[in-house]
Amino acid sequence: MVSTPRPARRILAIAATMAAAAVGTVAALTLAATPSQAATCNGYVGLTFDDGPTPGNTQNLLNALTSNGLRATFFDEGQNAQPNPSLVQATKNAGMWIGNHSWDHPHMTGLTTAQMNTEIGNTQSALQQITGSAPKLFRPPYGETSSALKSVEAQYGLTEIIWDVDSQDWNSASVASIVAANARLTNGQIILMHDWPANTVAAIPQIAAGLASRNLCAGMISPATGRAVAPDGTQPPPSSPAASPSPRQSSPPPTGGGACRVTSAVNAWNNGLTNNLTITNNSTSAVTNWRLTFTLPSGQTITSGWNATYSPSSGAVTATNAGYNSTIAAGGSVGIGYQATHTGNTAAPTGFALNGVACS
Ligand code: ZN
Repeated sequence: MVSTPRPARRILAIAATMAAAAVGTVAALTLAATPSQAATCNGYVGLTFDDGPTPGNTQNLLNALTSNGLRATFFDEGQNAQPNPSLVQATKNAGMWIGNHSWDHPHMTGLTTAQMNTEIGNTQSALQQITGSAPKLFRPPYGETSSALKSVEAQYGLTEIIWDVDSQDWNSASVASIVAANARLTNGQIILMHDWPANTVAAIPQIAAGLASRNLCAGMISPATGRAVAPDGTQPPPSSPAASPSPRQSSPPPTGGGACRVTSAVNAWNNGLTNNLTITNNSTSAVTNWRLTFTLPSGQTITSGWNATYSPSSGAVTATNAGYNSTIAAGGSVGIGYQATHTGNTAAPTGFALNGVACS
């Protein structure tokens, strides 16, 4: 493997690791995290920690997470997992999910397809050997991706996960700043943190308190939707063995000439479904303060959403922009989505209109 230049934060990583090792104690046994009480969860967020496992820090992080009732996804590097199998096993035993973060953290988009295969495939193998199952999630280093990389990911059945919020913990963010970044998370969203900064470990109790105060719980990242969902069976992801996923349904192609186009990607299981919608502005001017109206099929009730607010929860629904995505440029798109319950009808919504103008 050709070694790649290490980013500056690697130096910080070593310093943080040594500091943690000097004061840290390694627990011999970590109990699985207690699932957060479902009754208080009005939504789920995905906490993620990259670049581990890190001797001297991972166990401290796991202790902080489990003692605060949080579960998280760890995107491990193969080169760190292989020599530290006990830390990977401890991560799994603590109730965490484990994803693939490449073998040695290269800029993947600069690699050949063969090199991409080696980075991803060797890491899949190493993690499967340690944990007994191959990861389903892949986070490209630096969040850098390309169509070629996505093709390789697909060969391994991996869902690519970037992030909605960057905690900047890799960039020497303070504890308060890391806590504040977590406070910006909304239902379904994912935050980037790392396995090695001491400040990240120190921030965990306040992150837990902040989420609890907003009735948000730490969830798993659904391989089907790439969004944070409940960690247990109450809202099973479509990939759950107990579920019978229906094929993805898409709206028909545009009939042409419409000022807007909306596509649906419905993924359903026993009693629930998710729908990821893409709204495209086909007009020659930007649409501001957008509202998308549509008819939800009978028997469906929206229980949570992302990148928009939905009201009412059934029937003739209006999805209102989330502020940060209030403008759709000419020719541009925004992605929104929701989770809903259903009574057997898993059809996509119909009758889309953007600010009152019918969409194709
Ligand atoms: Zn990384």
